[in-house]
Amino acid sequence: MKASSSFLSALFHKQTPPELCIGTSVFVDGTREGILACVGEPNSWDVLFEDGSEEYSVPTSRMSLKPMASGGDSTLKPLPLRAYQIDPTQAWDIVRSARGDALKLPLGNFCGEELPPKRERTVRFVCISDTHSYETKAMSMATALESIPPGDVLLHCGDFTNTGKASEVAAFAKWFGELPHARKILIAGNHDLSLHAASYAETAKRFGHGAQEDVEDTCAKVRAIVDAIPRCEYLVDSGTEVEGIRVWGSPWQPEFCDWAFNLPRGEPCREKWRMIPEGVDVLLTHGPPLGHGDLCSSGHRAGCLDLLDELQTRVRPRYHCFGHVHEGHGVTTDGSTTYVNASTCNLRYRPVNEAIVFDIEIPPATVREGSGPLSSRS
Ligand code: MN
Ligand code: MN
Repeated sequence: MKASSSFLSALFHKQTPPELCIGTSVFVDGTREGILACVGEPNSWDVLFEDGSEEYSVPTSRMSLKPMASGGDSTLKPLPLRAYQIDPTQAWDIVRSARGDALKLPLGNFCGEELPPKRERTVRFVCISDTHSYETKAMSMATALESIPPGDVLLHCGDFTNTGKASEVAAFAKWFGELPHARKILIAGNHDLSLHAASYAETAKRFGHGAQEDVEDTCAKVRAIVDAIPRCEYLVDSGTEVEGIRVWGSPWQPEFCDWAFNLPRGEPCREKWRMIPEGVDVLLTHGPPLGHGDLCSSGHRAGCLDLLDELQTRVRPRYHCFGHVHEGHGVTTDGSTTYVNASTCNLRYRPVNEAIVFDIEIPPATVREGSGPLSSRS
């Protein structure tokens, strides 16, 4: 069992412990490179290899971790400036040839009836997004909103309304508040117009919200409704902790038809992503990073390169959850971070995509000692 204990010491005695989770890159028997795809028996995992083959219940004693410098992967190639100057769809070709492709993980490992029972000393996260006020609509079909799986923490990555009308926000708040999860974490999306006070004067007019509406008053009222959702935290470039697991939330995305929380690509986006502290385990944004869950039905990629770069070179969260590109629902990995597009609505705005579920081990108290509360670096 010598190999196993050295593996565990590698896990728990580094400054940034590379804990095992779905999507972690490993070498099996020192040579075969693969990715953890599913937790197996105690101390074993199903491994998906580079050549597409799979091996079940591989004991951790046969694995070694891909070496990685703390706080980021020092072997990552810097991207040529050109990648930031061209269309993101083309930029992705440069990024993936420099840093590797996105690998799709089997959705069955994250939702539906195949879910394994929750392991001991873990927190179960249930992730939804882009529910677009469907909680109030009577549907002729079964929807994913009626069967949100149980778990410890319910995450929502924004676009919970259609245009952020106070009545929509109130209906969502009632429904979300009544779900049984002990904790809820929520961010806004570009459709939740009234949550973005700085742009609401303009968007309210454009979307025909009452002409007589006092814009400031509506924004304050709507924010108070969201803040009053029981057992829920609403994050705007801010963080929280669940059993020592660090969560950060940010609503911004690269410009999209001048809706809420829009920023030009480049420095304005990058400024928000620099606020994400190192050591975050679960990141919530509304929009996807470039290359993961961001492929639109038009063939274009809507993801943010500045976000991907900040995550790959510095933050390295274990999970990055988002929505926004409805047709991108699913789970991918770059070998370090697991990317979750949790959009509940599909491309045709039908709320049929199941919630995505993952478990994270509660970190041993000693590892977090002296790490201080989650705060921005700046
Ligand atoms: Mn949406
Ligand atoms: Mn959106």
